[in-house]
Amino acid sequence: MNQEVGGRSRKRKRRTNRRKIENPSVKQSATTTAANSTVNKEPLSTSTTSKSSTKPSSFLEKMKAKLSGGHFRMINEKLYTCSGDEALNYFKEDPSLFNMYHTGYQEQMSRWPEQPVNIIMKWLKDRSSSLVVADFGCGDARLAKGVKNKVFSIDLVSKDPSVIACDMSNTPLESSSIDVAVFCLSLMGTNFPNYLQEANRVLKPSGWLLIAEVKSRFDPNTGGADPDRFCQAVCELGFTSASKDFSNKMFILLYFKKKPKNNPNKEIEWPELKPCLYKRR
Ligand code: SAH
Repeated sequence: MNQEVGGRSRKRKRRTNRRKIENPSVKQSATTTAANSTVNKEPLSTSTTSKSSTKPSSFLEKMKAKLSGGHFRMINEKLYTCSGDEALNYFKEDPSLFNMYHTGYQEQMSRWPEQPVNIIMKWLKDRSSSLVVADFGCGDARLAKGVKNKVFSIDLVSKDPSVIACDMSNTPLESSSIDVAVFCLSLMGTNFPNYLQEANRVLKPSGWLLIAEVKSRFDPNTGGADPDRFCQAVCELGFTSASKDFSNKMFILLYFKKKPKNNPNKEIEWPELKPCLYKRR
């Protein structure tokens, strides 16, 4: 689906344009290459060949779209290749990067036939609204806005007074206080097992752990993790696997229940989760 731009002169022109418009503070941050990652097959909708209704028309609009797409990709790569506390400092230094990231993220999501957050919302609506939820990596806190439940929305930056700004490996939530812990496309940091350990700490016994992740990160045929190994590691942390949903084209959904008693000190071998990068078009 990613279209090659043909002809040498066009490529050179594109590179020249990119140099002109890149923000150096953003550029410095990306540390790994696509060779060590899974690449999302869906292109960014900021492409000049986009069929989206927001197709940029003027030259200036096209340049702006390329600029914001480029920033999104760099911030995205940064978040997938650093730890949670590094990511927290990254946004503390320049909180405007968070808006840039989420503008690109929403563009990307608008291309997905189904958004995982909506499936999780429906899952919650089918259950008691008295369940207390923690949304780890909540983004724009869409989940909290869409359900009646009490939701603790957590992210690196708080754009809304209801969002708790922190690294989700170390939240201010009380131990055994949460019924449902949600990770919707948010297992980004290299220390993602710490996020799941934190969820384990704050969940009540028999509480739910819901994970939605980009499908390509769990496709062993393209360098992704083996989903069974990942599920096994989560189970060793202290959960039982309740169900798995691989039916969606873009993401997988994993549902776990916390065991009434668990042993969080066990050594667990976590599979590596590769970054999910987006190709430039
Ligand atoms: N769950 C939302 C947003 C997903 S984007 C949705 O489905 O729409 C992933 C989010 O995880 C981003 O907002 C990012 O800032 C957040 N995130 C990544 N690492 C984090 C960390 N260590 N602590 C808190 N939030 C984190």
